[in-house]
Amino acid sequence: MAEIQLRNVSKRWGSFVGVDDFNLTIADQEFLVLLGPSGCGKTTTMRMIAGLEDVTEGTISIDGRVVNDLDPKDRDIAMVFQSYGLYPNMNVYENIRFPLKVRKVDQASHDERVKRAAAMVELEPFMHRKPAELSGGQRQRVALARAIVREPNVFLMDEPLSNLDAKLRVSTRAQIKNLSHELKVTTIYVTHDQIEAMTLADRVVVMKQGVVQQVGTPTEIYDRPANTFVAGFIGSPAMNLMEGVLEGGTFTGHNVSIAGLTGPDGPATLGFRAEDARVGEGQGEITAPIYTIELLGDATMIAVRAGGSMVSVKAGKEYRAEIDDTVSISVPPEICHLFDAKTGERID
Ligand code: ATP
Repeated sequence: MAEIQLRNVSKRWGSFVGVDDFNLTIADQEFLVLLGPSGCGKTTTMRMIAGLEDVTEGTISIDGRVVNDLDPKDRDIAMVFQSYGLYPNMNVYENIRFPLKVRKVDQASHDERVKRAAAMVELEPFMHRKPAELSGGQRQRVALARAIVREPNVFLMDEPLSNLDAKLRVSTRAQIKNLSHELKVTTIYVTHDQIEAMTLADRVVVMKQGVVQQVGTPTEIYDRPANTFVAGFIGSPAMNLMEGVLEGGTFTGHNVSIAGLTGPDGPATLGFRAEDARVGEGQGEITAPIYTIELLGDATMIAVRAGGSMVSVKAGKEYRAEIDDTVSISVPPEICHLFDAKTGERID
């Protein structure tokens, strides 16, 4: 069992606030992803949970026990970082066994545990190689095996895939997901990559400048972003956001007019996703000349200027048009998201 609780957790260095009043209960065996741009406080949050960073204010508990003053080694947590931290003079086997030696785990069990951990990440053929004789992906798997071998209650992973090339990232990502499921370990995973977050997480915490913006399942965050920051951070392409005025349920801006909305009169930011809109004939809600057109293979992406921004719309793979052709885009009210123009908070 490992339920982790953060209550009013803050981290300050002098007057600089790295993490501001973080509150969350992470369920036993949950896969939680901390997501946000560089410097938003993800790593600091994780280091506080690990005990590598003091908490300025608030409490962190694991299974109901406050761990604020507990040494990292007594927290039953294993960590995997972007830099693998392998010992260059030890082979794969010895690297994986290292945590068992340090923790003075009964020698008799070492061999079996090392082999089992290595098997989980398919490292058996490489047991006698030194880290220098391995690829980046293999090294990362040694780092994973070294975390697995301890059989901890909690895994903390800080951008463990960032040194891998795109293809290896995808396969290692699947392996991590599978491992955490199989090992039934509570996992906290830090990334700035929203696709990684969406594919791995049971729940995602989106952070910005030390402040939690939204906590939810990937679907909740994708379908109902709490504010324009989350809307603009999740999805590829990110949600289209346009400035305009809402009056009597009609949103009006440059090149755009959408009726049938609900929300208070006044300046507003309207959002919709590229795949929810349609490029078509007739009178659409957006009428504008094409600015760019990109063939993606399985779809065609066009972009136009509307509501003071560039707006992307996904058309079918057969769709063909030229730059400067005027297109009509239908943006029905049911695909729209409304945000306060000043605060960026969701208002619909
Ligand atoms: P990245 O994705 O770049 O790793 P992050 O979201 O993990 O970013 P943190 O490493 O948690 O960000 O840092 C959060 C903020 O705290 C940053 O602005 C950083 O400069 C600041 N910070 C981190 N460590 C210290 C420190 N020891 N002293 C002062 N400020 C710090």
